[in-house]
Order: sequence, then C-alpha cells, then structure tokens
Amino acid sequence: MKVLKFGGTSVGSSENIKKIVEIISKNDSDTTQFIVVSAFATVTNLLIDAAQLASIKNSSYTTVLQKIKDIHLTIINELTSTRDQKNLNAHIENKFEELKQVLQSISLIHDLSAKSEANILSYGELLSSYIIVEILNQHGIDAVRKDSRELIVTNNTYTNASVDFERTNKKIRSFSKVNKAKVVVLPGFIASSSDGDTTVLGRGGSDFTASIVAAALNASVLEIWTDVSGMYTANPKLVSQAIPIEEISYEEAMELSHFGAKVIYPPTIHPVLKKEIPILIKNTLKPDEKGTLITKTSKGKSNPVKGISHIENVTLITLEGSGMVGIPGFSKRLFEILAAEKINVKLITQASSEHSICIGIDDSNADKAKAAIDTVFEFEIIRDKIKPLDVEKHLSIIAIVGEQMKSHQGISGRMFSTLGKNNVNIRAIAQGASEKNISAVIATKDVKKALNSLHESFFKENYKQLNLFITGVGNVGEKLIDQIRSQEKFLRDKLKINLRIIGLSNSKKMVFNETGIPLKFWKINLNNGQNASLHGFLENAKTLNLRNSIFVDITANRKVADMYKEYLKNSIAVVACNKIACSSDFDKYHELKELSLEYNAPFLFETNVGAGLPVIDTLNNLIASGDNVINIQAVLSGSLNFIFNNFTVGTNFHDIVKQAQHEGYTEPDPRIDLSGVDVARKILILARESGEKMNLDDIRNDSFLTKNNHDAVTVDDFYRSLIDDADHFNKLLASANKNKCQLKYVAEFSNGKAKVGLKEIPEGHPFYNLKGKDNIVMFYTNRYPEQPMIIKGAGAGADVTASGLFADVIKIASN
Ligand code: ADP
Ligand code: ASP
Ligand code: MG
Repeated sequence: MKVLKFGGTSVGSSENIKKIVEIISKNDSDTTQFIVVSAFATVTNLLIDAAQLASIKNSSYTTVLQKIKDIHLTIINELTSTRDQKNLNAHIENKFEELKQVLQSISLIHDLSAKSEANILSYGELLSSYIIVEILNQHGIDAVRKDSRELIVTNNTYTNASVDFERTNKKIRSFSKVNKAKVVVLPGFIASSSDGDTTVLGRGGSDFTASIVAAALNASVLEIWTDVSGMYTANPKLVSQAIPIEEISYEEAMELSHFGAKVIYPPTIHPVLKKEIPILIKNTLKPDEKGTLITKTSKGKSNPVKGISHIENVTLITLEGSGMVGIPGFSKRLFEILAAEKINVKLITQASSEHSICIGIDDSNADKAKAAIDTVFEFEIIRDKIKPLDVEKHLSIIAIVGEQMKSHQGISGRMFSTLGKNNVNIRAIAQGASEKNISAVIATKDVKKALNSLHESFFKENYKQLNLFITGVGNVGEKLIDQIRSQEKFLRDKLKINLRIIGLSNSKKMVFNETGIPLKFWKINLNNGQNASLHGFLENAKTLNLRNSIFVDITANRKVADMYKEYLKNSIAVVACNKIACSSDFDKYHELKELSLEYNAPFLFETNVGAGLPVIDTLNNLIASGDNVINIQAVLSGSLNFIFNNFTVGTNFHDIVKQAQHEGYTEPDPRIDLSGVDVARKILILARESGEKMNLDDIRNDSFLTKNNHDAVTVDDFYRSLIDDADHFNKLLASANKNKCQLKYVAEFSNGKAKVGLKEIPEGHPFYNLKGKDNIVMFYTNRYPEQPMIIKGAGAGADVTASGLFADVIKIASN
C-alpha cells in the first residue's frame, strides 16, 4: 500500500493532472494507492479572500467566487469528454451555489468565525478531489473517492485543528478493511470535529493528511508530489545554486521544514517517523528525477550542513530587566501565557545572566502577545523590575540544519562570519541543545543575501558570485570589461567564480541589472541608462543588497574617492585605481583602512603604484610576515620614464610629452605627471603601507620644471611653456649625456623621509637600463638588506592597469 499526495501546483493545470494520471497508471496495479489531493493551485488563497471580503460586506467576493469557479470549469472542459461534463458540471454548479449562500450569510452577519472559515476552505479540496476521481475514471483508472472528514477526527480549533489519532487511526483502518478499490482519492487538508463540524489542518495541511493515512495503514512509502524535484539545500526560488538533497533524515527534514522549507508541512513527518515509513519527495512535472528520500538516518555526502531555510514575518519580543535575575518562574509565567493565548514560539534565547529572554513569534501574534505579556508582568513593569517590552516586527529567521553539525567545530563561527562579511546584522541567535540547527534573526531585506552567502559558504561545489559596480569606463574600464568577458568561462570552470557586472557608470549615464549586465551589450545598455549620479549609484548598490558586492573606481575623480567611506560602511568592498583616496590627508586614508577592517570589506588599490605590478601586495606580504622596510628606491612614473627614454638629442621635449599623452601614458592633465605630484603620491602610498604616518606635504619634491611651466594656467598654456623653455630641457639632457648618465625620475623613502626628483643615473645602476614605460621598485628591508627585492615591468597602460584591477577583484574572491 502506498500513499501519494499531489500538491496544489500538481493539480493546478490540465497538463499537470495528465501527469498525475500517468504516475498513478505506472504504479503496480496490485498495490493499493491512496491519493491525497490538494485544492487546485491558488484556490485556497482565493477562498480566504472571498470569505474576508464577504465578512466586510465587500460585494466583490462574488467576482472572486466566479474566478474560483472558472478555474474548475476550465480543467473540466479541458480534461473530460462532453458526455461526462454534464454530471460533473451539475455537481459543480451545486457546490458553488452552496458556497455562494454561505458567503452571503457571512456578508449578512458581517462576521467570519473560524468555524465558517474552515467550512469555506474545505470546498477547495472537496472540489478538486471530486473532479480528479472523475478524470481518473475516464482514463480507465478504477478510482473511488472517500471524504476525509469521515476518517480524520480533530478537536474544534477549526482552522488549525489537532488530530485525535486514536479515533482517526481506527476509522482509517476500518475503511481500509472494507475498501475494494485499488485507487482511493482523498481530499487533503480537511477533517471533522467530534461534533461533526468541518475543520482544516492548517495551511499546507494536505501533506499531513497523507502522512496520517500512511501511518495508520503502515504504507510502504509516502510520496509527496510537488513542483520541485525534492527538498533542496535551500529554497530554489531564492537560491539559484540550491540542489536537491538526495537523502535526509526525518529529524533534519523536520528542522528544515520547521524553519520554513515549505515543500513539506512540518507536522507531516511525525506520524510516519514512528513507523519508519520512508517519505519520497518527487516532482510531478519531472517524475524521472530522483527527488529526496527521507528516512531514519541520512546517509548522503559528508557535508555536516544539510540545508538552509528561513521564515519571514517574525516578531522578536524581548523581556529584560534586573528583576528577572535568579528568580525562578519568570520563564514559566511567560510561556504559560503564550500557550494560553495559543501563540506558537518559533525561537527562544535566554542570556546566561538570566537578565533577558527573547522570543520569536509570528507577526500576526505580535499585538496579542504584547498585550498578554504586559498584563502578566504588569506588577514588575510598574516597579521597574522589568523594562517595558521591546517588540520588533517584520523580521526573519534563517537556520542552517544538519545532524552532523554537532561533531564539527567552527560551523557557527563560519555562519556568523559569513553573515558579518556581508553586512547582515544579527538580532538574535539560537542554537538547539541537540545542535541540529543554528538559527539567527535578521532583517527581512537581508534574507536573500544571507541565504545565498551561507549557501556559498557551506556548499563548496558552489560558485562564488562576485557582484561588481564599476564606475569609469574610459580606456582602462573598457579593457577591464573586455578582460572579464574573455575570462568568464575560465573563472567559472577553474576558479568557481561567477563574476557579474551589476552596475556600470560613466560621468553621464549609469545602468543596473540584478542578474548581470550582458557584457556583449554593455555600451548600448549604458547609453540607454539613467542619468548618472554618485549617490544614486551607491543607493542602487545598497538597495540591491547583493552578497560579495565590489565597487570598482576607475576614475581619477576626487568626488568618487569621497564615496568609498559609504561603500565600506555597507560592507561593499572597494577596488580603486584612483589614487586620490590613498594619497589625500593621512586621517582620511587611515579612516578607510579602519572602516575596511571594521566592516570586513576589502579596500584594495594595487594599481595605485606600478599599474598591474604586484608592488603593494608584495610590500603588504613582507610586512605581514614581520619584515621591516629600511629604504625604498623606485622609478614609479611610466609616463616620465617614457618621456625621458624618448627625449634624445635631436628631439624636442614638448613633442615627446605630446606623444606620451597621445599614447595614453600620462594623466589627462600631463602636469600631474610632469610636476612629480603623481610620483610623490605613489611613494607616499608606499611609505604609508610601510607603516609611516606621512602626508603629501612631507615629501620633498625637487621639480625639474621651470617657474614658467609651473605658472601656466591651462594645459595649453603649459604645452606652450614647454616650447618656450625648450633650452632648459635640452640643458638637462646635455648634462646627463656629458656624465654618461640616463635621466630618471626617482622616488625615495628612507628613515621616515621621502623625496622625488629627476636624477642622472650612471651606467651599472639597476635604473639605468629601464626601458619604455617600465617601472622599477627596490625594497631594502631587514630580510633584504644588501640585495634589494626588485619588482620591475610595465608600469603604465590601460591593459596592465585593467589586469591589476582584475587581480584585486579575484583576490577578494579568494579571501
Ligand atoms: P505543494 O503545492 O505541492 O504543496 P508547496 O508550494 O507547498 O507545494 O511547496 C513547494 C515549494 O516549497 C517550492 O515550490 C519551493 O518554492 C518551496 N520551498 C521552500 N524551501 C524549499 C526547499 N528547501 N526545498 C524545496 N522547496 C522549497
Ligand atoms: N490547500 C491547502 C493550502 O493551500 C492545503 C494544502 O495545499 O496542503 O494550504
Ligand atoms: Mg504544500
């Protein structure tokens, strides 16, 4: 004997009902099948709407009623022959006439009692079961219908009734004894009180009906047929990487469903658990998929975390006060009143100081609970022994579940650090003593992010998703997008990283796409975007609230750099090639570093020095491993190096600078390079990263420009002044040539002091042969006192800068 339950979506359309016919027909014809069906999809919700509208005398309940009727008539029309429709339609007409009268009387008395509500709700399953039996018969399956109200006896908590198992089991067994049919269809969800009134078993209760029948009859299996291929590692509608769990224990499944995995109604497991009847969850639309097997012990893979689930609409009530310490009976009084008010408590935490108790309940019970608790503790509240209740509504609980968690250390640590890294604020934590679940109360807006980041963290086969918000799509930005596009597949296949650009902005426009901007069309998307705004960009990143969000600044704009603070405070990592933030006032730089630590949001700026060369990373590694910087000597300007390498006898300084700008080696305003400010900023950043509290003003800048050059107001003026002062530059070149030296613009840091300036470098010096736009950095440290550690290579150019930014982004993924 088997029990099969088909949920609302499985009986929601003609196509799905056809699948049910196939599933039932394929089963061994000798095995008796009890088929429990839900109301057709959406019908229960519509019945509730109709009842509530009628109770407030809103006549539109008739429109809702018509909609419910249409749902049924459509299925009858599509699945039955015209000959058989006559009887069926007459029955349906009858039932809807009945229902109409019930609703009319509710409208008249202007009141909806629980008893009437249960009666109205029962029509959903009564109708669906009636129609399905007819359809099965017409498809040659010899099925009979049995009204569950004649089998399942409950108390009279009409809409959430408790089952009297003794009487129920007897009734089911005696029915089974007399039953001859191989297929029996039962309406799920509905039952009756001992007075004979209709009751229902709570929302989602058809699963429970099936379990009650399976347990009473010692079925070989309880099959729950639904719209997903099993119980997933997380709700597949919210976590795209969730996968079906092949095998899970009763206890684990119970925990997951208790914490919101709606695929199975929580009370369902209990009756079959005692009899050790396996539960199989299957997908009606994809019957060949394996589904989930729920048994006494879960085998499955070794992952101690089996699944993650969540419940919304949670209210947290905190009872706090010094008057509670050490006095027994406080909790008793609290839980007694909650029980008396029939308020189900979903989560409890108590501080070990006994100074506070915190409970999580359904939002719908919040006001009732507050009033009741206020009354019970009135005496203590008036005397200040207990603070007025703290009631916080509209929260959510997320829980990780697994029986093996107790034998693994560090699970809760990982859970909370994952949430912390993603800026998910935790309002309360509870861990069952059995350690089968760890749950936390969080803001509902953070649920999707929390589920996804926990899933990524606990299910290693998952991709890590990085969500980029890029501002500045000039040369470098464009190259970065190209590189991301061409590496997409490699990152996914080899590094299990799913890199998506969610937001993109230039100075005029910005565009967002929660599922990732299609990289092939980013330009068109951006051009058709909304008007750009720095705050708007931030607000979008905040509102989308995605895990592993990274803000990438590819501008040279001060206002953009001023926004980093806000990103970091929202735990959004910052990757910048813009040097302004790290080279501005020390306190600002320091504040960003601190915020990065405080909010667990990386702040990376490798490309600030030497473009794609790993200069800052190497320096950080030296220092982190206990080394100490003694001296840094460096040529840090790709542009100045390019200029002085190409400035030879017979050329003209002005033309070379123009060429450097044309080829993209200088900043848009070449004075930033030629004045030495850019190099000063870079050595400043290296000095700071070496541990020095230094500002730009502290750096000696021996400029090689003339006063005339410095006085130029515009870029054009500056270029003209280079022509006017050509002699000055020719002299610098002549002197170097005479001394058999090369001109290099050198930055130095030593003994807490830094300077930048043009130097004549003699042959044999590591800087002498520096070619093109190359950079070189020599670190003299305690570990490298004589022979410095040298990093050398292209230090400018869109491609290498983009790859440096890319490396910073990937570094965040691997953290
Ligand atoms: P039915 O109508 O068949 O009873 P339900 O809507 O009650 O179906 O339950 C199935 C739904 O449960 C799925 O469509 C899915 O959205 C939701 N769900 C939530 N958590 C999980 C989970 N961990 N695994 C599978 N489904 C889940
Ligand atoms: N039809 C009922 C509901 O929607 C019972 C069920 O489908 O399990 O809650
Ligand atoms: Mg259900």
